[in-house]
Amino acid sequence: MPLRDKRHFVFDMDGTLTIATHDFDAMRDALGLPPDSSILEGIAARPAAEQPRLHRRLHELELDYARRAQPQPGAAGLLQRLRRRDASLAILTRNDKALAGLTLEVCGLREFFPDELILGREEHAPKPAPDGILHLMQHWQAAPASTVMVGDYVYDLKAGRAAGVTTVHFDEQGLARWPELSDITVQELSELAELLGD
Ligand SMILES: [Mg+2]
Repeated sequence: MPLRDKRHFVFDMDGTLTIATHDFDAMRDALGLPPDSSILEGIAARPAAEQPRLHRRLHELELDYARRAQPQPGAAGLLQRLRRRDASLAILTRNDKALAGLTLEVCGLREFFPDELILGREEHAPKPAPDGILHLMQHWQAAPASTVMVGDYVYDLKAGRAAGVTTVHFDEQGLARWPELSDITVQELSELAELLGD
């Protein structure tokens, strides 16, 4: 059981614990950002005077997604199982912390995460930077060998690799896009629960 010895789990939120609903093309369009740009970096590249308005608009768009969020099938079961074995749980998201809290609340998953362990984009350099994971490991006094990063996107896997932890790709569509960055790949969260081995 490859995850039997793991005690510390860092989860991406959107598209991992929740069903992916963000239409990033529509968001870029609404913000007037070029296609293919990353949204946060795209805003940061605009003139400073424009950025507050773009961040406000982004917040409105994200609030709308948060209010309509739905949990990923198997998410609550996986988190309950991890809690039963006393695993530490955290969220590391490129979303905003308050919106992450709201999203988790709407999905019925808020109870699993202490407020200080929901890390949004304000607290640390966003993924793919490993900063958030490094901060959590320090907080838990955890070694990379007992820590896992779970996510559905290349930024999650890159952040996990850079932090030296085990990476789990939640690859719902089974496209295996980043095999070199993924130690374990699952198509359903329930598969991950089985890999815990208890
Ligand atoms: Mg995601």
